[in-house]
Amino acid sequence: MTCDFFQQATLGVQGLHPYQPGKPIEELKREYGIKNVVKLASNENPLGLSQSVLEAVQADLINLTRYPDGNGFTLKKALVQKHGVNMDMITLGNGSNDILELIARVFVTLTHSVIFSEHAFAVYPIVTQAIGAKAIVTPAKDWGHDLTAMQAAIRDDTRLIFIANPNNPTGTWVNKTRLKNFLDAVPEYVIVVVDEAYFEYASENRDYPNSLTWLADYPNLIITRTFSKAYGLAGLRVGYSISHPTIANLLNRIRQPFNVNNLALTAATVALEDSEHLKKSIALNRAGMEQMMNAFNQKGLPYIPSLGNFISVNVGEGAKVYELLLRQGIITRPIGGIYGMPQYLRVSIGLPSENDKFLQALWKVMNFE
Ligand SMILES: *Cc1c(COP(=O)(O)O)cnc(C)c1O
Repeated sequence: MTCDFFQQATLGVQGLHPYQPGKPIEELKREYGIKNVVKLASNENPLGLSQSVLEAVQADLINLTRYPDGNGFTLKKALVQKHGVNMDMITLGNGSNDILELIARVFVTLTHSVIFSEHAFAVYPIVTQAIGAKAIVTPAKDWGHDLTAMQAAIRDDTRLIFIANPNNPTGTWVNKTRLKNFLDAVPEYVIVVVDEAYFEYASENRDYPNSLTWLADYPNLIITRTFSKAYGLAGLRVGYSISHPTIANLLNRIRQPFNVNNLALTAATVALEDSEHLKKSIALNRAGMEQMMNAFNQKGLPYIPSLGNFISVNVGEGAKVYELLLRQGIITRPIGGIYGMPQYLRVSIGLPSENDKFLQALWKVMNFE
């Protein structure tokens, strides 16, 4: 006799839709028989690894037989030096997604509610739903987070608010003054996660907050960052949070003891020191963003100004244009479905030549030639 395992699953999990990742390059090659593929679907760093990281990782391969340092001491020490925070404020994660989930599991049960914005990062609804908690989704304003609406949505049972700054997939962001006022207004029993996955790109902007300076004033603030984007280590899975030590201590209790692997620890530590590669990556992104915006402007295609390493552009029918671009060997990201933006495509900023290939293919499939 077979069990009805679906019925046995928790209600939260029954209602989940799995996260849809960008299509891997190998899959497109296999399915479409295309040789030269340009992937602009997952906001990866088009420059790849720095030489120093590559060498450090290669030298570290011999240590794969050992368990990693479960405390990540060396990486934490490098982060302490970089950010001027105390070591007991840092929690390391298997990507920052790992941390987002840990936070939800520490503070939220199915009797609680979690607030995030319409069009916000897909991991927030997933971790909320997995617990079976109530998701309060506030309407977006100009595609971005409406902090006034988010504040008004807070209830007695609210335990957590997610703010992506800048947000993925819209690239929208909240400035210093707005975010500070919001933190002032949120009661202390509500944890505010400010997800800064694109911090290194966004902090070029003068009005972008330096949220680390607020940690002393707001013990309910958690900042998350990652090595997946500007540092180019998406495949290794390493991210971190900085928070009040009590929160870090709580996260540590449910963290998998070896959630960050040997190679990831080594790579992240070395990447943090390679400021040249980071600078290059940021400059490349700035130039690529200009290239995309200029091209969209020329054709009159509406787009959402972005502080990330990606841009969302209105192509009419996102899913259709996505599919036609695949046949041209270009992988982008359609953002209908859970993101609720069926007219848009999200495109990561690539190398200038990759951006150009994308743009030429886009004009072709949209009959703009
Ligand atoms: C990419 C991204 C992350 C980071 O994911 P990792 O798990 O660190 O690879 C987190 N938040 C947002 C908004 C992102 O776009």
